[in-house]
Amino acid sequence: MAQLIGTAGHVDHGKTTLIKALTGVDTDRLPEEKKRGLTIDIGFAAIDLPGIGKVSIVDVPGHEKFIGNMLVGALGMDVVMLCIAADQGVMPQTIEHFEVIKLLPVERLIVVLTRCDLADEDSIELVGLQVEEMLSGTRFEGSEIVSVSALSGAGLDKLTGCLRVILGEKRVAKSGKWYLPVDRVFSRPGHGTVVTGTLARGILRTGDSCAVLPENEKTRAKSLQVHGEQVGEVFAGQRVAINLAGVDLDEVFRGYVVCEAGACFATELFDAEIHWVERPKHGARVRVSVGADEVIAKAFLNDDDEVLVQLRSERVCVVAKDQPLIVRSYSPARVLGGGKVLVPEAKKRRKNAAVSMGSGLLDVIGRAPTGVMADEIARLMGSSVQALGDEIEQYKNRGEIIGFAGLWFTAAGFEAASEKFFVALGQLHQERPERALIPRDAAVKQAGLSWAGKPLDRMVSYWVGAGKVRAEGVNVALAAHRPELKDRQRALLDRVKQALDEGGVSAPGEFEITNSLGVPKQAVAEIMRIGVEAGELVRVAEGIFYTEGALAKFVEEVREVYAGQRFTAAEFKEKFGTSRKYAIPLLEWFDSVGVTMRQGDARVVR
Ligand code: GDP
Ligand code: MG
Repeated sequence: MAQLIGTAGHVDHGKTTLIKALTGVDTDRLPEEKKRGLTIDIGFAAIDLPGIGKVSIVDVPGHEKFIGNMLVGALGMDVVMLCIAADQGVMPQTIEHFEVIKLLPVERLIVVLTRCDLADEDSIELVGLQVEEMLSGTRFEGSEIVSVSALSGAGLDKLTGCLRVILGEKRVAKSGKWYLPVDRVFSRPGHGTVVTGTLARGILRTGDSCAVLPENEKTRAKSLQVHGEQVGEVFAGQRVAINLAGVDLDEVFRGYVVCEAGACFATELFDAEIHWVERPKHGARVRVSVGADEVIAKAFLNDDDEVLVQLRSERVCVVAKDQPLIVRSYSPARVLGGGKVLVPEAKKRRKNAAVSMGSGLLDVIGRAPTGVMADEIARLMGSSVQALGDEIEQYKNRGEIIGFAGLWFTAAGFEAASEKFFVALGQLHQERPERALIPRDAAVKQAGLSWAGKPLDRMVSYWVGAGKVRAEGVNVALAAHRPELKDRQRALLDRVKQALDEGGVSAPGEFEITNSLGVPKQAVAEIMRIGVEAGELVRVAEGIFYTEGALAKFVEEVREVYAGQRFTAAEFKEKFGTSRKYAIPLLEWFDSVGVTMRQGDARVVR
């Protein structure tokens, strides 16, 4: 896997000379060569490290360009060589560069004391102490310090040895969708448009389709070049020139991004995590350097979280999740802080809104106590629903999250949200005790929720299955809710229930009950409807009713009698002393509620 070495340090502290001693390439001469069309790589040289392969080293042409170069390369940088002239020691730019390195996702540092032939033992030791003090308390404390002379070659072997060790350890999986912030665009006669940049993530292969953002124009990587050689694939951290198919020179510019579909977002509002050197005022105008682009943006802070900031840019810019960025004051441009993109397409948030910006799937879902749709999760994570599919599946299988037609909750979150719904439903039952059922939308509203449609359908089914809720169409009730009936109704329902229970499996129908009780047909029909709504009666099929208690008893008996054995409808009819008229609807009802399951013309208890 391709790797990248960065350099940093005060002007004239021997960076360019060191790179030349290591690689034979004079990066100072590259701009002239570029003008004459000999190279496409500004400030990049390649070193061949035994056991590692070809590794790019990026030089810093001048101090002003340092931040830009670091941003373009930092994500892919495996190690930065911070150069300090042994005869001069730590200087202001040394400190400033070190501050920027600290802010960016650079993982390893080697401090190179250059020009050692110009300093004596004592001053080299002194500079060493200065450096240790600078590193102390930072994540780079304990970094290797190597003294070299590009002139005599002293220490160069030790330096390449250090690089080999670090790069050997650091063959990190540079996985994820690839993207390339474009830092240069030119046209090759006969080939068309070429863009150059450092691949910030992933792997890019010849022929891959790609998008040019912010316009989102679709194209294809016709051919790839690394260090002037045609290659089949490039890895994160490598400098690459991409020949784009069918894209004109006036359609892509420095600051644009070429990427795999879905890797980057054209946005004007994004969330970032910034470690501040100097925290700006809420709403201050700042300069944001991201990729090869710089935009003016307003920085909106958060009371709750020191490092969280919303950046509202004055024009569209292109960012990827986790992309490094630097924030500078508007004028004069002074580094205020640096960090990475958290949410590429953010939603406006108030300054005092409490947030926790963990970026994992569980965090994102956990922050949405009333559920979050899959496409919203994808947006918040800077990913796509498709790309998140596997991860969602894994969490789901582990029971950590639960979804209803695309609306996701953490397991605990769903329990709490359900409880909220049940409490609201209970309140409505209390308000209208005579009503058996409540429109589910009314309960949702009462709970202050916004569930609707398919997700709500699925949730209701889930609660019904869990015995928490009864549902009739779009109306629901808590399973335990019994409406208050008028005395007259109560008396009649009790008589009907008694008549039904006396019939056992062959429960009497409406007509028989009407006759035996001597009450009008309409009154019986009405009270049976009320009984069903109240959950005291169950309508198993057209004209066939049982009391809830009787039905529960049948279920128990069936489970007991047929445990571990198949049985037919005829056998059931025989065993329960009834006719086909009852046996068939009852068995079908058992199937429908999951008590039994059909197997050919027989059934088994589930
Ligand atoms: P950069 O600005 O950090 O790229 O520094 P350069 O590489 O351009 O070097 C600045 C000056 O220091 C040049 O005049 C170099 O010749 C000189 N220099 C660099 N490395 C050494 C070294 O190891 N020994 C000596 N004596 N001079 C060096
Ligand atoms: Mg130089």
